[in-house]
Amino acid sequence: MKILFFPAPELTRGEDFGYDGNIGPTHWGERYRECTGKHQSPININVLRVKQVALPDINFIGFDDSIDDVHVTNNGHTVLIEVENEPHPRVRGGPLDGDYIFSQMHFHWGDNDTFGSEDKINHRSFPMELHMVFYKEEYQTSKEAVKHSDGLAVLAFFYELDRHQHPAYDEITSALANVTEPHTSVVMNHPFSFLNILPYDLRRYFTYRGSLTTPPCSEVVTWLDFEQPVRLAHEQIEVFRELKSAHGKIRHNFRPIQPIGDRTVFYNIDSTYFGYNELDDPSEDTTTTKPSRRKKGNGSPPFKRASLYLSLSLIIFVGLVVM
Ligand SMILES: [Zn+2]
Repeated sequence: MKILFFPAPELTRGEDFGYDGNIGPTHWGERYRECTGKHQSPININVLRVKQVALPDINFIGFDDSIDDVHVTNNGHTVLIEVENEPHPRVRGGPLDGDYIFSQMHFHWGDNDTFGSEDKINHRSFPMELHMVFYKEEYQTSKEAVKHSDGLAVLAFFYELDRHQHPAYDEITSALANVTEPHTSVVMNHPFSFLNILPYDLRRYFTYRGSLTTPPCSEVVTWLDFEQPVRLAHEQIEVFRELKSAHGKIRHNFRPIQPIGDRTVFYNIDSTYFGYNELDDPSEDTTTTKPSRRKKGNGSPPFKRASLYLSLSLIIFVGLVVM
């Protein structure tokens, strides 16, 4: 593994915030006004209050490409994964208007496996969360994109524990061992594909408008929180907790939840799925095996039945007129 020691450009700022004490999240607003805004992230998602929608499919472009120039950097707050190869992976569709280009991905974690994610689902925390950050193509750079309310899209993935190691994460965790010191970076030894580190089900997700979860807390992010967690072994999550900032080990780096205010969280399902309220127990539906697509007992969703009745009455009506 090639070890590089260079400060990435974004590392020149952001030394003035942390997760504890007088540089912790409750103080961020003193220096960064937007951190006290009304549409901040993360939030708790109450599944009884979400609005169910069937959005257009998301296109994940370049997610199964084998990317061979991948940089892994400890920026003193988290570990960043960046790619050099062009073109970068991109996403379009779902709630997004236009194409969003991959910028970087990074992780948030907690002191132990009982918490660490930023967003919560029904007040449930997950031990770790992945953020894949994309900027809107028309703004050309992520620096320009953060000046616009629709500038960024973040795909968020939760982690939960598994007895087995997730092989696709071996390359990441072995890179982490070489960047425990802040402001160090390595290039991954092996090609890397986005799809390999994601859960199987990319259709069910929550989406809402929010902010960056670190200063400057800009309210420019369309969040997509995928429901199915990625399963990692405890030892694989432990490796993240070995990373250091200027103040010692980064034991946790998640921001506490913020008020949801007047926002609506949408829950995307495809129409062949059950709605959230109709699942027996959402928490049991999180295996890495193919998720069950449980149909409604009587076959078709209500709107389909309604249109069937409508068509039938129309046929009968036309039949009567013709006779
Ligand atoms: Zn993040």
